[in-house]
Amino acid sequence: MHLLDPSARKCCYEVQEDFVRTLKNKGISEKFFSRSSDRITFSLQELAVEKLKRYGIEEIYDISFCTICSERFFSYRNGDFEERILTMAWLED
Ligand SMILES: [Zn+2]
Repeated sequence: MHLLDPSARKCCYEVQEDFVRTLKNKGISEKFFSRSSDRITFSLQELAVEKLKRYGIEEIYDISFCTICSERFFSYRNGDFEERILTMAWLED
């Protein structure tokens, strides 16, 4: 099983065109970006799920918390420069 922890999500993860171009040059599909007239947002979770499934991981649990718009978490992008979230991960045999 893989857990997608709280992180910046598509609702708030605003990026610029140069970020899109850089990722597309690395083979990342346009489908992970949402465009409106005034902003571009990125879904890191959808990209992670696709990559995990590519490696054969089917059991994925997405905790679905956005660190930017949820008041439960710290977010550097939301101006929280003193606090951090620590994520630990490991593989078990
Ligand atoms: Zn959000």
